Parts: sequence; structure tokens; C-alpha cells
Amino acid sequence: MSDLIIGIDLGTTNSEVAAFADGKVRVLGPGEVKMLPSCVGISPAGELLVGESARNQQLVYPERTVRSIKRKMGSAETVQLGDKSFTPQEISALILRELAEWASRDLKQPVKRAVITVPAYFSDAQRNATREAGMMAGLEVVRILNEPTAASLAYGFADGARRTVMVYDLGGGTFDVSVVMVEGDVTEVLASHGNNRLGGDDFDDLLLAQLQAEFQQRHGVRIDAAHPQALARLWWAAEAAKKELSFQPYAQIREEALITENGKPLHLELELSRDEYEKTILHLVESTLDSVSKALGDAGRKPGDLDAILLVGGSTRTPLVSRLLRERTGLDPREDVHPDLCVALGAGVLASRLAGRDVERVLVDVSPYSFGPSYLGQRGGAPYPYCYHPIIRRNTPLPVTRTESYYTSFPGQREVDIRIFQGDNEDALQNVLVGDFHVEGLASTDEPNEVLCRMSLDIDGILHVAAIEKRTGKSKHITIADALQAKSDAEIAAARKRIADLYASREAAFEEEEDEEEDAEAAEVEGAEPAWENGVVEVEVQKTNGKIIPMDSNWVEHRRQAVDLIQRSRRLLDTMHAEDKEEAIALTEAIETAVTHRDSHALVEAMKSLQELLFFVEGG
Ligand code: AMP
Repeated sequence: MSDLIIGIDLGTTNSEVAAFADGKVRVLGPGEVKMLPSCVGISPAGELLVGESARNQQLVYPERTVRSIKRKMGSAETVQLGDKSFTPQEISALILRELAEWASRDLKQPVKRAVITVPAYFSDAQRNATREAGMMAGLEVVRILNEPTAASLAYGFADGARRTVMVYDLGGGTFDVSVVMVEGDVTEVLASHGNNRLGGDDFDDLLLAQLQAEFQQRHGVRIDAAHPQALARLWWAAEAAKKELSFQPYAQIREEALITENGKPLHLELELSRDEYEKTILHLVESTLDSVSKALGDAGRKPGDLDAILLVGGSTRTPLVSRLLRERTGLDPREDVHPDLCVALGAGVLASRLAGRDVERVLVDVSPYSFGPSYLGQRGGAPYPYCYHPIIRRNTPLPVTRTESYYTSFPGQREVDIRIFQGDNEDALQNVLVGDFHVEGLASTDEPNEVLCRMSLDIDGILHVAAIEKRTGKSKHITIADALQAKSDAEIAAARKRIADLYASREAAFEEEEDEEEDAEAAEVEGAEPAWENGVVEVEVQKTNGKIIPMDSNWVEHRRQAVDLIQRSRRLLDTMHAEDKEEAIALTEAIETAVTHRDSHALVEAMKSLQELLFFVEGG
């Protein structure tokens, strides 16, 4: 067939190729990953290496390997590989030729024509150099396409309507953000900002430095260029951990026998937490948000003027990126088209259209709904057991697995109820309950116990939920079969009613407990629980800026003491004189109110007074 045109994203870190095949635009190439590291090298034996093999030798033979050649496109600089010298166009041509071969092998036909993408800020010289590279690779370059335009095409925003879109592109070594106006096939770049020395590689470097410091602290030896193999392993481990932390709150590093000192192998084993990692990279992500503000300012737009924010580039999988963007702009950034492949797929959409195919956009399987557990948090300044925050967000490509961390409400809590909702409302009661389960036998701890909630959703709409006690690894699972099926109005009403009834019974328990006489009655029952521990026991988290943090341990301790104190007071009520009894009840109420409003100061004051009173009652 002669009408084949491929679309190529010639990236700084990775490059990809896409074309129309099997009725849709898809990424081409061998294996699962289909991303070619933009790396070229010559092995010590003189063999030409392109892609993964070149990347693998990079740390060991840096003088024989070149990466990030995109940065030099359009310049007269040459690069040296062993004893040979190359222009940037020649290096790029080797990458393009490899991609064309991937496409040709995948589609079983020769490839002659291509659309190649470049950043919006590329100068004429850089665009020409890219065109030349294509020609050197034996390709007719039918179009040089701006990357943000390619992303808009992938999302189907070039359908004729006029839209203002922000494309936030954070790759391995570069960052840029563009505000574009899309109308049909015409895309105007209104403003573009960025830093072509910032990307996920910098995140790796920060993690690597942390691992080096940790190893040095444990073993007194620094792993650096003097230990190239060990350094390469640490670097791989850092990148792998970084990627894991995008989907779960912890990542384990386990590197055995990194080096041998005095005949003894030295290992590195540690756990990294997402919270800590996010603190490490926060300043870098913040700097990208400055560019976002500048780009919006230069384009004369406010966040409210944007129709969408599209996330492009592998590093946008870092949850901190979408969270901060959401917080600052109020928009939910779109990441439904695979962020690494989005630009190549968009180039593939244009290539297909130029080849005469009627292609609207890239088709992906995404979850049409958000899913997550409810938790006991704060609403309107008061504790509320049906706070909600999705773990899997709407428009996430399937299959997906995400894990988040929660804490039990009080020390010694041995069981939790996990309720899974479908929806986006911060109030779980406004969402649809899709499943629930009860977990018993948690370890008895002095501090709130960490429970991980892992959710996996597959393409058939099967949702697996697991609650995992972090300290022991003990877990309990449920499977919800038809999570993606639209619920009928009656089903939604029934699910809402069920949960509203549960909530109402809990409220009733509160009110009952507030009744003075009931209070006194309860005191006669050995071990009666104070009001705030009655009813539903929930997994508790406290949220600050959308981040989950454990509860303040002082507060937890105070509350535990308050529980003990009230029980002691209730046991003594019948032995008290009328006056003391009245005061004890008033102080108990004051403690309950302080707990409800989370008022530490009032709680401590009331507890002190009740302690004094009980001291005299017990003494007399
Ligand atoms: P790109 O230049 O768009 O191919 O992006 C490559 C960068 O994305 C590299 O720094 C990768 O380490 C990074 N990356 C890939 N997957 C993930 C992930 N799951 N979480 C965070 N960063 C990732």
C-alpha cells in the first residue's frame, strides 16, 4: 500500500511511532513498551547501538553514547562517539530510521512518509534540522507538527469547535507548557514557556543522591563514578522506585551486593515513601507551575478560560503534578491518552488524515467513573464519617491499579469498615455505594494503624479492592463485578438510601448519648463507650491540601485519655454526691463537645477539671 504515513514523536528522552492499523491509530513497535530511548551509541566492539542497548551502556561508556540530541538540533555542534563524529541530524536520523523499521516490521509494509513532531518553541533552524534528519533516514517528511497540536489532535480537540487548551508537557529532560487555541486543523500557539533542562531525570538524580547518602551513612563508602556498575544499579533502582511511587504510597529498594569491601558484600535495603519523595521534588514541580502562570499571563487567559489541561510526557504520572495543577487551576487535568504516547498518537491522527483516513481522535479505554473509599475526616470544621476522595479518577486509562494510605481513628482500633463509592462528590453520601466490607483482627497499636487501600479496575469493569494492614501485610479483598455498568436510577436511589440509613442511625446514636438520662443509664453498663466511639468505625485520614497525612499524635493521645477518663467517671457516678455528679456530667459533656470540635485546648482544660474531681471522689 502506498498511502501509508506514519506519525513520529522525536523526543528528548524517548521516541515513538504511530499509524493507522487494525481500524484505529495505534503505537507501533516490538514488545509491550513501544518506546525507543532516544539514545545512540557505539559499543567498544564497534557495533552501532540505537535505543535500549545504547541507554544500557550509557553509564559505563558515556564517551561512546549520546542522549538528548534533540537539545542540539539546529546547532552546528557535533558529537563524538568513540573515534567518530556525528551531526545532531545524523544522530536523530538513526533514531528515526529505527522507528521507521519498527513500523515497517509491525505493519509488514515499507514506510516512506512521515509526520514528525517538534516543540512549539522550536526555531526555523531547529525545524529544518528535524526535516533534514527525516530525509537522511530515507523518509519524506510530509509535515512538521507542533507537539501541543499533536496532543490536541489525540484528544479529538481538532473537531472544528474553537477551544483554548493548555498542554503541560513534562518529559525526562525537558518541560514546556503551551496555551493553544484549536479550531479545526488550525492550532495557534498563544504562549509557550518552559525549561529545557528540567524533567523526570532530575527527579531520578534527587532520589539517587538520597540513596547514595543512605548507603554512605550505613556503610561508610560513597557509591560514585569510581563504582560505575553499582552507580548504574542505584540509578535504575531510583528510577524504578520513582515510577512505583506514582501508583502506591511506598516503594522498596532492595539492592544486594552493590559493592564488596574487604571481601564483604554490602547491600542497600530501604523503604521510600511518596510523602517524603514529594517533599524532595516539590521545588521542581513548583517551578513548572510558575511557567504555567507565565504562559497563561502571556496568552492573556485565566484558568477559567481553559477548556482543558492535557498532560503529556512520562513524568506527568507523578501524582503531585496533577494534584498541584488541580489545586491551582480548579480544572481536572486530562491524562486519559497515555502521556508518553500522546504526542506520537496525535501525529498518527494527522498522518492518518493526510493519508485519507477519517480519524477523529485516539480511542482509549477509560473508566467513566471515579472510585474510592469513604473516610472519617473533617467537614465544615466538624468530624464527618463520609468524607470522600477518589483513588481511581474518572477518565483514567484501563487497566489501572492505585493504592492510597489511610489511618485508623484511634489507638488500639482492631476493626474497620471499608465502603467503596462511585462518584466525584466530596460527600460520599452523594455518590453511589458499590461495595463494602468489614476488616477485623488489626494489630493493637499505640498509634493510629496504617491501612492501605488498593484498587484495581480492569477493562471488563471488574473492580478489586484490598485493605492491607501495612505493618503486618495482612489483607482482605473484595471483587465488585460490574463497576463500570451505568446504574439505573432505582439502583442509585437504593444505594443512597442504604447509606443514608446507616448515617441516620449513627446520628441517632450521637443524639441518644447526648441525652443526660441516657448518659447516666449507660454508666451503669460496664464498659459503655462514649458517644464518639459508637456507631460506624471508619478509616480516618486528615487532609491538608489534598495530601493525606496521619492524625496529630498528641490529639490522638488526648482523645484516648479522654475515653478512659469518661469511662472512669461513669463507673463512679453512682457513688457521687448530687453536686459532684452534676459537675461530672457537665465536664463529660464539655469533653465530648471539645472532641466533636477537635478543640485541643478546651479538651485538656475539661479533662484536667474532671481528673481533679475524680481524684477527690475516689479519695473520699
Ligand atoms: P518522556 O520524555 O515523555 O518519554 O518521559 C520520560 C520520563 O518519564 C522519564 O524521566 C521517566 O522516568 C518518567 N516516567 C515514566 N513513567 C513514569 C511514572 N510511572 N512515574 C513517574 N515518572 C515516570
